[in-house]
Amino acid sequence: MPPSSETRLAPGLLYIDGQWVPAAAGATFKTINPATEETLTEVAEGRAEDIDRAVGAARRAFAGGAWPKLSPAERGRMLWAIGDRIDGHAEELARLETLDSGKTITEAARVDVPMAADCFRYFAGWATKLEGATVPARAGLFNYTLREPLGVIGQIIPWNFPLLLAAWKLAPALAAGNTVVLKPAEQTPLTALRLAAIAAEAGLAPGVLNVVTGFGPGAGAALVDHPGVDKIAFTGSTAVGQEIMRRASATLKRLTLELGGKSPNVVFADADIDAATRGAMNGIFFNKGEVCTAGSRLFVEEPLHDAFIERLGAQTAKLQQGDPLDPKTRLGPQVSEAQMGRVLSYVERGVAEGARLVCGGARAPGRGYFVRPTIFDEVRNDMTIAREEIFGPVLSVIRFKDIEEVVRAANASAYGLAAGVWTRDIKKAHRTARALQAGTVWINTYGLYDSAMPFGGTKMSGFGRELGQCGLHEYTQTKSVWVDLS
Ligand code: ADP
Repeated sequence: MPPSSETRLAPGLLYIDGQWVPAAAGATFKTINPATEETLTEVAEGRAEDIDRAVGAARRAFAGGAWPKLSPAERGRMLWAIGDRIDGHAEELARLETLDSGKTITEAARVDVPMAADCFRYFAGWATKLEGATVPARAGLFNYTLREPLGVIGQIIPWNFPLLLAAWKLAPALAAGNTVVLKPAEQTPLTALRLAAIAAEAGLAPGVLNVVTGFGPGAGAALVDHPGVDKIAFTGSTAVGQEIMRRASATLKRLTLELGGKSPNVVFADADIDAATRGAMNGIFFNKGEVCTAGSRLFVEEPLHDAFIERLGAQTAKLQQGDPLDPKTRLGPQVSEAQMGRVLSYVERGVAEGARLVCGGARAPGRGYFVRPTIFDEVRNDMTIAREEIFGPVLSVIRFKDIEEVVRAANASAYGLAAGVWTRDIKKAHRTARALQAGTVWINTYGLYDSAMPFGGTKMSGFGRELGQCGLHEYTQTKSVWVDLS
């Protein structure tokens, strides 16, 4: 459906140095509503020249102007005001996110938008708490440390949580006193542009936040290469993360990389079955499976396996798929035609490699990039659908006999982002949590996040942490000061 008049769409411009400007080359590209396949609007296609302008603006704002003159308390108040303004625009932002990404309005309104507002308010509190230390190093000397911002941060984000991940990146970077050039995903650029306008309304000085829309190899790579950028914070695929790491070595940029996952969700036979069923469903179908922490490998202990599959199949059949603007809809379309194609090709691979299709496995008829919620049973951990990140509503169920076997299998993955454990046995729960190679482990729940809890990966899922105090410190560096008192 066409966007309604109350949804203010982006003006086809970039946001650089507090101004809305066209891309230097004048190019634009379309952003598509994946539920209808219709064009929502044209967005400016930023390239190297635009990145250069944005980095210049961010550099000037870091070194002079209003931003570095703000006290930490004033910086905190600014972030708090942005959080409040996100809440003030909640309906509009949720609708825009749904139109651009295909996520359901219920998820956008209940999760993405309020968590983005909360993230700004959480980091508002940290602006006044960036403390150094006095260090008892030597007699006759006074030693102390300062925790300083890094400078200009390049932030590159994906299309699955466009507003929320913009908040995860911006709020800690700004709280620590940095300035930012943000490159949203080409599939979902609209809420980041609205956020720039909202931040400007809140009084953020020109150049502190710049948003350059465009493609990865154009705008994204130019940001990674730019010598005026001190750090790249990236969320996206492992392949692009590797490419960014290679390129960033030329200018020795600091990096945090939040990459792919193939997270194990482990259900022991003594689990609360209702809760585990909800957790398994939520783990794979939330945001139509386009979640880096999706619990895409479901390990079920032998005695429970058959009954559990039956329940899962029955519950999945009840999931309402369709118009993501309908509050009753649970599953929206995949973000793009390309993504839908990728998901369906993995389904074909699963069938070819001998997994048993329990349900789904096909595109839903009609317009929009809808993939039926899909469950594969009798999956082996070495099959492609158990090894590679699908990023869609496709669950691989694998049976196991005991804790040693499941820990070995769960860890036999290139990735290590998240994991779930379901059991009523408290010792087994904590033993398994310790043994699993993952940045986050959920016990008897799945997919919870909080601005205060660090989040990030191990192994090929990347490094560095977002959120919490760890997330703040990733945007700072320590200076050691020596004072001769003799
Ligand atoms: P996905 O596979 O989820 O689409 P990508 O890793 O391709 O994720 O994209 C995530 C973000 O990285 C997007 O903003 C995209 O434009 C950007 N990107 C893609 N390729 C590059 C690249 N070579 N350099 C920098 N950024 C890139």
